[in-house]
Amino acid sequence: MGKVHVFNAGPCLLPEQAIDNAIAALKDFKGTGVSVLSISHRTKEWDAVMDECRGLWKELLHIPDTHEVVFLGGGASLQFLYVAMNYLEHKAAYLDTGVWAHKALKEAKGIGDAYAIASSADKNYTYIPKGFEIPEDIDYLHITTNNTIYGTEIKEDLDCPVPLIADMSSDIMSRPVDVSKYALIYGGAQKNVGPAGVIFAIIRKDSLGKVSRYIPTMLDYRTHIDKLSMFNTPPVFAIFVMNETLKWIKSMGGVEAIHKLDQEKADLLYAEIDRNPLFVGTAAKEDRSIMNVCFVMAPGHEDLQDEFLAFAKERGMIGIKGHRSVGGFRASIYNACSKEDVQALVDCMKEFETLKTK
Ligand SMILES: *Cc1c(COP(=O)(O)O)cnc(C)c1O
Repeated sequence: MGKVHVFNAGPCLLPEQAIDNAIAALKDFKGTGVSVLSISHRTKEWDAVMDECRGLWKELLHIPDTHEVVFLGGGASLQFLYVAMNYLEHKAAYLDTGVWAHKALKEAKGIGDAYAIASSADKNYTYIPKGFEIPEDIDYLHITTNNTIYGTEIKEDLDCPVPLIADMSSDIMSRPVDVSKYALIYGGAQKNVGPAGVIFAIIRKDSLGKVSRYIPTMLDYRTHIDKLSMFNTPPVFAIFVMNETLKWIKSMGGVEAIHKLDQEKADLLYAEIDRNPLFVGTAAKEDRSIMNVCFVMAPGHEDLQDEFLAFAKERGMIGIKGHRSVGGFRASIYNACSKEDVQALVDCMKEFETLKTK
């Protein structure tokens, strides 16, 4: 196999260093002679990994003492239910920015009164709705900061008069976040901070305990805060690899430095999309995601789509087919994707242009 460039939307590319350390730990976890897959999670060696991982989250995102971070199984999709169970009492508002936002709303509707405060469904979610009024009598506003499928992103931390809850599955650790503005930030690790199998939830502790329903023990965030994510067996290996990924982010200079790199990568690719007459971007320019870059063949060249996919595949590009609900192409350029990978895709687009138009 020649050199490949991985643009998968999730599970994502992970840093080589994290993979190498995971391989070593599969054989021998911290010199114990036992594989990380077989160690007891009730040991001081494992406690040290949990502590380090929690510590790195707090350090990298400057999480204030008002908040705690927990690691759980079940995927971001189960968090949709956690959110409603833990926060929905009277009424909740959801910003409808795509499939994931919609699924989060659906779970809330199963629990209580929840509605879409604004939607970009009219243009197939190619922009972020703006200028909507947030009523002060709702329990919370739920947003999806990065819309993985459509390549749109809310890049600033909203000022919100009610508790703000954000699904940051696909842009966590790609930009500095003012955590103090959120009651809850959650997401699956597999888009930017680790392998599939673990979620992170950053919870403002005093935002909990405000609903009257019985919350099943496993669905109650307080259980996991109290037990430091070890109420039951945690997803040990996924957390191990997430920790290694965070160590890599730190070694790169932290989230601030990574953000600069991510922005440069995104600028490079969007510049080519805007320049190359064969391609056109699908997301509104001001809302373009720096993580998922969506584009299609320009009008008049639609018939070249399959040919470009095959052409790119031959040159080692992996995972650039767009989501089935959008079509075209999507390059996910998460943290571990290098500038060289993005440059290779840009070169490939240029080569294709030469082949077709000159
Ligand atoms: C992928 C994704 C999800 C779903 O994550 P799972 O862990 O597969 O449940 C939710 N929200 C966003 C924004 C995503 O990108």
